[in-house]
Amino acid sequence: MRHTQLFTKTRKDAPKDEVSKNAQLLIRAGYIHKEMAGVYAYLPLGLRVMNNIQRVIREEMNAIGGQELAMTTLQNPAPWQKTGRWSDEAIDVWFKAALKDGGELGLAPTHEEPITALMQEYVSSYKDMPKYVYQFQTKFRNELRAKSGIMRTREFIMKDLYSFSRDEAQFREFYEKCAAAYMRVFTRVGIADKTFRTFASGGSFSKFSDEFQTVCEAGEDTIYIHRQKGIAVNKEVYVDEVLAELGMQKSELEEAKSIEVGNIFPLGTRFSDALGLTYKDETGAEVAPVMGSYGIGPARLMGTIVELLSDAKGIIWPKEVAPFAVHLVSITGGNDEIVAEADRIYEMLKDHGIEVLYDDRDARAGEKFADSDLIGIPTRLVISEKTMSQGGIEVVTRANGTTTFVSDSSLVEHLQN
Ligand code: ATP
Ligand code: MG
Repeated sequence: MRHTQLFTKTRKDAPKDEVSKNAQLLIRAGYIHKEMAGVYAYLPLGLRVMNNIQRVIREEMNAIGGQELAMTTLQNPAPWQKTGRWSDEAIDVWFKAALKDGGELGLAPTHEEPITALMQEYVSSYKDMPKYVYQFQTKFRNELRAKSGIMRTREFIMKDLYSFSRDEAQFREFYEKCAAAYMRVFTRVGIADKTFRTFASGGSFSKFSDEFQTVCEAGEDTIYIHRQKGIAVNKEVYVDEVLAELGMQKSELEEAKSIEVGNIFPLGTRFSDALGLTYKDETGAEVAPVMGSYGIGPARLMGTIVELLSDAKGIIWPKEVAPFAVHLVSITGGNDEIVAEADRIYEMLKDHGIEVLYDDRDARAGEKFADSDLIGIPTRLVISEKTMSQGGIEVVTRANGTTTFVSDSSLVEHLQN
């Protein structure tokens, strides 16, 4: 893509009311637009990052047998009334809307109820089990505090997967598979070294749930890390009894602020029981499937990446999520030969399937480099009078500022390695 075609522009300052680093940088670089507190639009660059994060998650969910579907945002109150979760006391973040005829509907804050009701139509025998279904879908939550930029918003996309298993053993097997898949996601998006599987409270369904918490000063949660075991305990279950059960001692744990980037949750038969979902086992008895739910917030992940992988100049995207693989920057000084050479390199990279943002603007070098640092594409290619006279291109790595010089003819190979 040519920069001159991009309708967004970088800006020096973020909105004054924006306190979080992730939103400040993402707004300044033109990734997102703030509609109002806790509500953000994704602009072309931001949408590319969002799609990349979702692609990584989708690949990992498909690899463990997930089937993608898309449920609805508008919610029929009926199944929620059956589970007792239609009330604002049960779910304190509901957005509800009145229908013209006097009825009411809800904007989905999560999807356990509709997926369980839906599966009733397709699950009847033990042969139908297990089933793993997931979606990337908009959730609405009337969050009280919306101050963490895109990490806690009132409208956001969630990847939510629901598992339906014959019994506890079959459920546990998938639960562990999904936990491993989550760690692969966090590795691929560059935050695994700071992300810990964390014991958290399990609500009414089971003793524990597992959160994936990323250590970060901007986090709203507090965890206690056991470095040796590579796991952590959420403050909400940090009591002697739980620690003893986990074989940990307070003296071995290290307190840290963290961001909950994902969460996996045993649901037992709470939803299948309430909504009458059963299957016939080998003996012909009607049995309630054991369920689990598995969430990741792609936007919260994007915000976390920016919080961790950025410096005073801007963002430093990891390769898998970067909006483009390379940022081609031409310093032409009005010289048509340099323009022609940069155009040629741009076409050549595109022909080789390399995703490139081409800063073809007629602007000063300082401005172009500052924007390039802010936008944070991992590799920058610079074409100028100096590089042309040497018959090549300067390759700058955003993460550490290292520079190498590569000849035209070996550029594609260099980038593909
Ligand atoms: P939190 O305790 O932070 O409010 P939660 O326990 O309500 O999160 P879930 O309902 O399990 O979270 O949602 C699954 C995932 O969706 C979370 O781990 C997080 O990544 C993401 N998520 C939750 N709430 C929001 C939000 N308001 N904005 C953006 N992402 C969110
Ligand atoms: Mg919440």
